[in-house]
Amino acid sequence: MEEKRLEENRQLRERLDKMLREARRNEKTQSSFDEFSLAVVAAQGPQELFELLLEKQKRFRIDEIRLCLVDRYHEVERLLTENYQSRYDGLSFIDTETRDLLIANIPDTPLLGKQVLSKYGWLMKTESTHAYQSAALLPLKRGNEVIGIQMLLSKDANRYNGEDGTTFLQRLAAMIAISIENCINRQRILQMGYQDGLTSAYNRRYFDERLEHEIDRCKRNKTDLVCLFIDVDFFKLINDEHGHQIGDAVLVRLVTMMNDQVRSSDIVARYGGEEFAIILPDTGIQVAHEIAERIRKQVADQKLIIDDHTLTTTVSIGMASLSQLKYQNDLQRKNFNQKPNDKLGQLLLGKADEALYQAKQTGRNQVVIKKMAS
Ligand code: GH3
Ligand code: MG
Ligand code: MG
Repeated sequence: MEEKRLEENRQLRERLDKMLREARRNEKTQSSFDEFSLAVVAAQGPQELFELLLEKQKRFRIDEIRLCLVDRYHEVERLLTENYQSRYDGLSFIDTETRDLLIANIPDTPLLGKQVLSKYGWLMKTESTHAYQSAALLPLKRGNEVIGIQMLLSKDANRYNGEDGTTFLQRLAAMIAISIENCINRQRILQMGYQDGLTSAYNRRYFDERLEHEIDRCKRNKTDLVCLFIDVDFFKLINDEHGHQIGDAVLVRLVTMMNDQVRSSDIVARYGGEEFAIILPDTGIQVAHEIAERIRKQVADQKLIIDDHTLTTTVSIGMASLSQLKYQNDLQRKNFNQKPNDKLGQLLLGKADEALYQAKQTGRNQVVIKKMAS
């Protein structure tokens, strides 16, 4: 009898110890989670947020984290990755074309288990498809809108299962969603210093900065880069005939047309009053010429209806490429490599401007490539 009681006591004590250990572990996880949440919400920018996500991966022993953000207007990717040297490897974006179907499939609450892997395999890198045994899919929501998805991957089939830890993961996702939204807004504000207030094209300051940066990149990658200089023909007449406000609206339309014809990685800037400059990185002179021609043609063909004014306009375009600078006679190859990138940028822009002058002198509404001495 005595022995039985002692045994029961021992078992009770063991259970109590186990519960205490679990409680302590939970407490530790909870405080680790609280600390992490606070840091995430306070993240000052994408770089910091992505570093925290990598830290989270280590801290919570997650095999891999994938983050996929909805990017309806092709804006989020630019805001979160542009000007950042180190990219977050697990980051991808859902753009307009693929969006509707994928977003419609995202659950409102976290989804855990093995089925996540087959159903949302597109979120993983192809090479990792077979490496994982379970996953948690966390919708990132602001209000009623899904702004992205986070996927936590594990090689352990039991790590993410059924309802286990769903509330905890949901709270984590909420914090991350807030942080992403903060980062996007913060980047938007920063970018405003780079934008032309009237047309929303990049401004001259940004253009000059980017040109230097892109020249550096294209030199390293041994690719060509082309600079276009664009000036509206007889713009003064538009102002005189239709008024300054209509003139302003024409400039806005022109930027839309230019953006329509270039890739999202190209940089369209308003360089001055009715002058625009475009950087086409990783582009040769021939392809750039086709792009410039498309811009010229679209502008010339487009009837602009603004309020009750109907008008047409044309542009003249001058262009010059980095490789032309490299191989021209007065700037030998060695010299080219030693020239600082900002100087090369100025030279390139100067050459494009000379070509533009030529386009103006010889009839307007045309594209001229700067001929270099050879
Ligand atoms: P060209 O074909 O030789 O380029 O002739 P142009 O009339 O376009 O050239 P000009 O340099 O003589 O005139 C440019 C005009 O652009 C004069 C200026 O008032 C107008 N302009 C500059 N900035 C703005 C702006 O922000 N809004 C409007 N509406 N007009 C502007
Ligand atoms: Mg001008
Ligand atoms: Mg002009």
